[in-house]
Amino acid sequence: MYENPDGVMIGLEVHVQLNKLKTKIFCGCATDYHKDPPNSHVCPVCLGLPGSLPVINKKAVEAAIKVGLALNCRIEEYTQFYRKNYYYPDLPKGFQISQYDFPIASKGQIIIEGEDGELIVRITRAHLEEDPGRLVHEGTIDRSKYTLIDYNRSGMALLEIVSDPDLRSPKEARRYLDKLRNILEYLDVFDGDLEGALRVDANISIMGGQRAEIKNISSHKGAERALLFEIVRQKNVVRRGGVVVQETRHFDEAREITLSMRTKEEAHDYRYFPEPDLMPLKVSGWAPEIKETLPELPDARRMRFIKQYGITDDQAKSLTGELVWADYYEQVLKIYENEYGEKLDPKFAAAWINDYLKGEMNYRGSTLTYAVGKVSHHLIWHEYTVAILGLLKHEKITDDNAVIIFRNLLDSPRGGSDWRPVKKAADSAENYVMRILEEKGLLKVEGDIVETAAFEAINENPQAVADYKAGKEKALNSLVGAVMKKTKGGADARKVREILLVKLG
Ligand code: ZN
Ligand code: MN
Repeated sequence: MYENPDGVMIGLEVHVQLNKLKTKIFCGCATDYHKDPPNSHVCPVCLGLPGSLPVINKKAVEAAIKVGLALNCRIEEYTQFYRKNYYYPDLPKGFQISQYDFPIASKGQIIIEGEDGELIVRITRAHLEEDPGRLVHEGTIDRSKYTLIDYNRSGMALLEIVSDPDLRSPKEARRYLDKLRNILEYLDVFDGDLEGALRVDANISIMGGQRAEIKNISSHKGAERALLFEIVRQKNVVRRGGVVVQETRHFDEAREITLSMRTKEEAHDYRYFPEPDLMPLKVSGWAPEIKETLPELPDARRMRFIKQYGITDDQAKSLTGELVWADYYEQVLKIYENEYGEKLDPKFAAAWINDYLKGEMNYRGSTLTYAVGKVSHHLIWHEYTVAILGLLKHEKITDDNAVIIFRNLLDSPRGGSDWRPVKKAADSAENYVMRILEEKGLLKVEGDIVETAAFEAINENPQAVADYKAGKEKALNSLVGAVMKKTKGGADARKVREILLVKLG
């Protein structure tokens, strides 16, 4: 049972940019601005010019409902947009179009691995709003002499997902964020690797005190660090006999501290009122149809992996915890079966793909996929993993060889077109593997391969064995020749002779 010694209560407001939509939420500006110059994806609507009129992007509403359903939320019959009034340079029209009562989704939950087992984190609500522009400060926010503004981001569809204060530690907060991101990736509504894709505001209080809100944390690690800092800060305030005041604080990622920005606004400070340019939106009846399109979600996929493949809970959790790895694992199994006409042992595959390959990549800080322009590539093509596992399974290479080949592939320059398999994919991947081992002289020194080849040569040439045992010394030469052929000339002939002599007794 987790005691929660400091009485920590954390609630998170996560702003998710629905950046897989083609256009912004209230105008037709394209969302693929990330590599373009600042202020090049703008129009009168997303610049907030007087007289411009917003038009709701239907796909954004559908995506929001999809997320709401995946988080087990109730979907409203109709939903309403509001003006949230405040002035800030990233919001030139002086208000943000958001939602107030009647958010699209409410009363859901996410199950995470808590400090003491499964923890249900309640989702208060999920509502749609427009993203403000991006402010770029010179240096740190409190010392910057000026601020640059990029309105490319202005008007991107944001889904704000608010949790109840059910989280009891920075670690749980991080796990919640990981799980949320995981679910969102499965839903294919956002690309978490893009700048600004997921921003967190964290509310935290300790020992029943007032809560501080830490604004605009841009990473999961950042959230954990900001919360750790904030717990220490609040404890120090209390220890000195002070009172934690309700306020908004900024997390300085570089210095890993939070700074007071302003005292916290209440909802009434924003003077919410219904957006007169957008009609209340009837979404009753949309949910059942969208529910049909929901993919298999992480928890369900994890359970299936355990059941279908007989892998461990940890392996299933790790693989399904990132969509690209879950897909990679299943694709390797499928390609293997197609190429070799036999099933690959899924436990054996999980040991290599999850325990070894994913571990090695994590250690190196590299990711399985990377983008060139708008195309996503795999750092190690499926075909190589298929070939390596095939060679291992048929005992043509050793575990050590496999590790060396994987490392060689990971060391290759990104894009690796020189080692991309062509045409007969499995063949060329296999050839590559053998060529690298030969180039490195590994086939020569690797005893296991020679052992295996010698064993096979003896089994396949009973006549030569019989001749040798009958005293014909020369018969040994033909066995040596057979081993040399099997190891593609890579083995050391003298060593082969020794091994054969031992095996022949
Ligand atoms: Zn626009
Ligand atoms: Mn918001």
